[in-house]
Amino acid sequence: MKSLQDPVTTLKGVGQKRAEQLATLGIETIEDLLMHYPSRYDDFAPTNLETTVDKQKVTIHGTVVSEPVLSRFGYRKNRLSFRLQTGQQVVMVVFFNQPYFKERLTLNGDVTVLGTWNQGRQQVIGSKLLVVNPGEETIGTIYPANKHVRQTTIRQLIELAYTQYRNVIATLLPLKIRQRYQLLDRATMFQWVHFPKTSDQARQARRTAAYEEFYLFQLRLQSMRLARRKADGTQLLYNNDELRAFIRTIPFELTKAQKRVVNEICRDLRSPFQMNRLLQGDVGSGKTIVAAIAIYTTILTGYQAALMAPTEILAAQHAEKLAKVFENTPVNVALLTGSLTAKQHQALADQIAAGQCNLIIGTHALIQDQVEFANLGLAIIDEQHRFGVDQRKLLREKGDHPNILAMTATPIPRTLSITAYGEMDVSVIDELPAGRKTIKTTWLKSDQSEAALDFLRKQLAQGAQVYVVSPLIEESEKLDVQNATALYEQFADRFAPKYQVGLLHGRMTNDEKEAVMADFQAGKIQVLVATTVIEVGVDNPNATVMVIYDADRFGLAQLHQLRGRVGRGVRQSYCLLVADPKTPEGKKRMETMVETTDGFIVAQRDLELRGSGDVLGKKQSGMPDFKIGDPVGDLKMMQYARQDALDLLEQPGWDQRDENQPLVLYLRSQNLKTHFD
Ligand code: ADP
Ligand code: MG
Repeated sequence: MKSLQDPVTTLKGVGQKRAEQLATLGIETIEDLLMHYPSRYDDFAPTNLETTVDKQKVTIHGTVVSEPVLSRFGYRKNRLSFRLQTGQQVVMVVFFNQPYFKERLTLNGDVTVLGTWNQGRQQVIGSKLLVVNPGEETIGTIYPANKHVRQTTIRQLIELAYTQYRNVIATLLPLKIRQRYQLLDRATMFQWVHFPKTSDQARQARRTAAYEEFYLFQLRLQSMRLARRKADGTQLLYNNDELRAFIRTIPFELTKAQKRVVNEICRDLRSPFQMNRLLQGDVGSGKTIVAAIAIYTTILTGYQAALMAPTEILAAQHAEKLAKVFENTPVNVALLTGSLTAKQHQALADQIAAGQCNLIIGTHALIQDQVEFANLGLAIIDEQHRFGVDQRKLLREKGDHPNILAMTATPIPRTLSITAYGEMDVSVIDELPAGRKTIKTTWLKSDQSEAALDFLRKQLAQGAQVYVVSPLIEESEKLDVQNATALYEQFADRFAPKYQVGLLHGRMTNDEKEAVMADFQAGKIQVLVATTVIEVGVDNPNATVMVIYDADRFGLAQLHQLRGRVGRGVRQSYCLLVADPKTPEGKKRMETMVETTDGFIVAQRDLELRGSGDVLGKKQSGMPDFKIGDPVGDLKMMQYARQDALDLLEQPGWDQRDENQPLVLYLRSQNLKTHFD
């Protein structure tokens, strides 16, 4: 029995060597070959002969208006010639040593000739001849290829595969869906995508292929989501009055958005299912207190909670803040980071395993082997995009189906989150605490940096605290540090001793860093010169000015994060970008920062400037590579595919009804984890 899962070696002429070459393009089976879609089409746009110069490559559509003549000359040489009417013009076409083209030509037939223009003789020396049947266009396919496998090889193999396997191509998309969106059956889809006779056929085939791709993707994603909903989670039946009493101790009123997401989270925690929720909220929107409420809920029911942060500074800051929040409560906080001695680490690990501390905050030290939890009920990942998929998984595995709350301050454009985080439930804090003023952002050229210093002086005189971020040197941490140190010296020269200037960079020990941060927090340091170590999460509501040097070296997401370090209190905050961008894209980034402080808009702009893969970072996000569909450009289609996938999965026993349904077989063959597995 033939199957699309057959290896490519079943094709004539494909041996081990060729198979290996094809594998470099990700092609191993017949189906891979058929799903190796053209990256674009060539419609052979005709050349304007009036402006053509001698020896130029030309493409001419026309009608054969003279009987083709084949004549021989010299030793085994021949030439085929005929006249071609194109528009109002008649030109001579000559093919050398391609006598077999004669059979393809008929008087008054339409053809497309590719060749070289001979100005003197007003003729085309042809290289390629395409016959155009009535009502058809000539369309060429351009495939993704590489140095191992050439275009022509791919084209030939696809043709071979299609001819030999066309009869076993089962359609995956349910009939109802195909009818609803007017999509093709799968065999026609492959035929038209690879061998279109008209551009409309190509368009229809691509539409079908894109939908199929999205649908299969969403089936996998949604079945994971449903599987989780059915799995046993850790149900936290907390006492609502106790939780309310705790919320009353918070010194501020939660925003509407915070209340909403707290409700969403608490509903999940109370449910018997495992929570898997992404909490999105712009910098300063107050995610920490939401996390604190979730933690309190967990601990009320006797479970442990863990909070993992990407840096030691951030972990320490969370520990300190939460210790304050949880004063006079049953919550006792432990901080587990890499800077503990082996002995301290062991002692703490023992306590965690014995359940003696119930809130464990830490860096990725939390997910090391030695750390075992007594009963982990909630795992929170702060700045989750900073962690890889594997690290997140390790934390999840520290408990028996613990509830997961992943937090991110890098807003994911709504257009992307449905794809990148489709298997999670998403909560969004789309509102800043009242009284926040938007951060005034200014872009200065480097020759205006004196103005920046004047501004700083005035702000400092009014009691402001200031961050100064030194240019980013991605290639070398050493240079990064040198840069920051040099900048620190300049600022110390100018502002000390009247104001205290501090320095913070990644090569300092944790104790050093913490001491500097504590001084800044306490107002003992007014100017803090730093590398991007301050990018993530550091919170000092009295800091109101952020100066970023060579700001165009930073990406939009990073700039937005950095800016988010200010504007956290009630006073007006400022962000000064000093930059002379050398590319249009760099300029756009500066303009975007000046224009808006809305993280979602920044993220959307970032997406437009860089494309989806770069915005999320493929590795971290698990953002899949789509062959033909564009999850951003075809967002509507993705949304429909998601709903259709859900509809199918929610049909009781849809898969059991027909074991031989192509879609079921397909999902099994692809080893997709679906809820019926
Ligand atoms: P992020 O979402 O960036 O993690 P944080 O949780 O650090 O933000 O909160 C930023 C600041 O806003 C903190 O100082 C926090 O205490 C304060 N905050 C949070 N929620 C509110 C609120 N509803 N009203 C006033 N201040 C708040
Ligand atoms: Mg935070």
